[in-house]
Amino acid sequence: MAERSTTVAISGGGPAGILLGLLLARQGVKVVVLEQHADFLRDFRGDTVHPMTQQVLADLGLLDEFDAIVRGRMTAIEFATTDGVLVRQDLASVAPRSARFTDIALAPQWDLLDLLVRKAQEYPTFTLELEARTTGVLRTARGHVRGLRYRQGGVERAIEAVVTVAADGRRSVLRPEMGTDLIELGSPIDVLWFRIDRAEGEPAELRGVIGRGGAVVAINRRDYWQVAFLVAKGTDAAIRAAGLPAFRDRVAGIAPWMQDRLEQVVDWDDVKLLSVGIERLRRWSAPGILAIGDAAHTMSPLGGIGINLAVADAVAAANLVGPHLLRAQADPGRHRRVFNPAILDRVQRRRQAATVLTQRIQVLGQDRVLAVVRAKPGTTLLPPAPVLAVLRGPVARLLPRVFGFGIRPERVER
Ligand SMILES: Cc1cc2nc3c(=O)[nH]c(=O)nc-3n(C[C@H](O)[C@H](O)[C@H](O)COP(=O)(O)OP(=O)(O)OC[C@H]3O[C@@H](n4cnc5c(N)ncnc54)[C@H](O)[C@@H]3O)c2cc1C
Repeated sequence: MAERSTTVAISGGGPAGILLGLLLARQGVKVVVLEQHADFLRDFRGDTVHPMTQQVLADLGLLDEFDAIVRGRMTAIEFATTDGVLVRQDLASVAPRSARFTDIALAPQWDLLDLLVRKAQEYPTFTLELEARTTGVLRTARGHVRGLRYRQGGVERAIEAVVTVAADGRRSVLRPEMGTDLIELGSPIDVLWFRIDRAEGEPAELRGVIGRGGAVVAINRRDYWQVAFLVAKGTDAAIRAAGLPAFRDRVAGIAPWMQDRLEQVVDWDDVKLLSVGIERLRRWSAPGILAIGDAAHTMSPLGGIGINLAVADAVAAANLVGPHLLRAQADPGRHRRVFNPAILDRVQRRRQAATVLTQRIQVLGQDRVLAVVRAKPGTTLLPPAPVLAVLRGPVARLLPRVFGFGIRPERVER
């Protein structure tokens, strides 16, 4: 087994792993990020970059390059049903006074990751290994994590590290190594994911509406719409069995504007099932290892917040742990000593409340979406007037604040 060493080994090159790698390398910490794929070009990635994340990009001096990859901007958050708008709120009107950004930018995640990697590669302490799949951890004789095992080019390799980071997403192979349990909040919805052409001159914003039988969210990816069709969990097989024409009718019944283009969905291979789940680790760290992003807390796509929370975790981890890593790096005995677990624990203590609250709101939101999706014909999809008043009053102010600006936005300190 080929063995090498670094200060921080990160498993996973998503928003959490790449940004943490960049921020630590910027502080002078030696980092190696392992990503299992050869590039970042994958469909199943979200695109919404909220004001809090734009502020992080501004902190890093990346705004001009970011503007070049933005495909649209949303200035309001809207939840609409086919019977009318549930909630609509301009983001600027609920922005904290200190907010520099008041819109949600739509940028393909692969472009954002490429941008962050380009920036990170300016620092000699940053290394990204592509096609490197983490298979497990290295441990000390006392059982503390001291690095990663991975497979690259058909060869089993290992990398020794002072701190190992699990940023490998919702199907993290490192979760079972953390010695903690998973709190599962479940999800009553799943997503069917497909694309249709986008004509020039169509609105740039995300387009979303909930109706009987499903909710449609269309994301602008310049020459096509990436469509997320939310359905009740476990109904995928029945939808497929009913055939494509019935599926097209169901989608068009909710979003008539896409009717003529649904013929572009020619067979079921064009429609991917994405299973939605909301869960989190009880403890985000153990001696020698820290979990961040979806690996620590898988988010629902509802509200498009997952990338932004992953980014916030990375910033918090770099702020809280980075300086200690720099000191550890200077210690010749660093690989023999276990990094102070209390320092790793600070990340969860800082990020947990925001994460738990956001997940709870997602659970409530998903239930509301499901109630509409399952509504009987002939009933109105809008709730009774008193509920609507609450939704359009306090809730309309709370949602954009939580989802747009974040409960505890993070700023790059170093
Ligand atoms: C359908 C859908 C739509 C979404 N839309 C949005 C949206 O619009 N906006 C938003 O903010 N959030 C959205 N989300 C959520 C968002 O995608 C995630 O919360 C976010 O990507 C989490 O970032 P991460 O870096 O923690 O994990 P990920 O983005 O999942 O990145 C993990 C990385 O680790 C790599 N990896 C995994 N296992 C290994 C291994 N063994 N070895 C090496 N590498 C490995 C993966 O290839 C991946 O690159 C959506 C989620 C879904 C399912």
